[in-house]
Amino acid sequence: MMQRASDGAELRAIVRSLRAHGAGRVAFVPTMGALHDGHLALVKTAREHADAVVVSIFVNPLQFGAGEDFSRYPRQIERDAALLESIGADLLFLPNVASLFPHGQEAQSRVEVPVLSDILCGASRPGHFVGVTTIVSKLFNLVQADLAVFGEKDFQQLAIIRRMVADLNFPLEIIGQPTTRETDGLAMSSRNAYLSDDERQRAPALYATLRLMAEQLRQRHHMGRSDIERLEAEGRAALLVSGFMPDYVAIRRADDLSEPDEGVGDENLVILAAARLGQTRLIDNIRVST
Ligand code: AMP
Repeated sequence: MMQRASDGAELRAIVRSLRAHGAGRVAFVPTMGALHDGHLALVKTAREHADAVVVSIFVNPLQFGAGEDFSRYPRQIERDAALLESIGADLLFLPNVASLFPHGQEAQSRVEVPVLSDILCGASRPGHFVGVTTIVSKLFNLVQADLAVFGEKDFQQLAIIRRMVADLNFPLEIIGQPTTRETDGLAMSSRNAYLSDDERQRAPALYATLRLMAEQLRQRHHMGRSDIERLEAEGRAALLVSGFMPDYVAIRRADDLSEPDEGVGDENLVILAAARLGQTRLIDNIRVST
């Protein structure tokens, strides 16, 4: 039977009792709800690594910019709860805004991972990652799990959380989960629900473009800076042709998201893209070992 908690005190009491009843390792999966198979894959991985699984659903106002989709973000708690119960989550944490920010959002202390938070998605969504790292820190401190699972779909977010955990010595392990995709390649996302039928048909071009770029990177052994920039520009052009408004297409080192400037021999790279399809901003990425 899955339990529910709606504030920190309740949450801690239930986690304590799970541990008292033999849960040696507790896993945590934070989400914003509107759950799909990608989220459920994180919970299943959490289950494999732990004796008890805590899932949070909180549409975090701190990580949405002015004019973004905070108010229309899909909310379907009862459907989500039934799905989580069916795959064996032990505790669903559903905090409300007032309990998490008793002094208001403006006065809330912040946790910031500089540099990594300012590039790529951080450049086009100022303040977004500070909102993420602040809420994730609060949730980590509330749940006090032994491990947490995050999706590689949000590759930059995962890199930032790993850095935060290392820099601030959070005593938990972070596990990255590969991206779950629709059969046509589109990365699952709660935001896919925003797409019109026509946009949904075009959407797989984002991942298809990344795959083509990855193929070209693999075939070329020595790429200089200008070759990389040309490949990035070709990726942006391909997205434009498919009806996207590209925000960025970037080839980076997978470990720290820095620009590979020495050519790409022997490196773990990642190609990341963000692009708008109508009103909907989609992101995706692909790993490439050259
Ligand atoms: P969200 O609810 O979108 O904030 O995502 C919650 C967690 O699920 C994050 O760790 C995401 O990276 C992860 N996630 C979202 N979509 C996917 C996907 N398609 N595959 C794997 N993980 C995902």
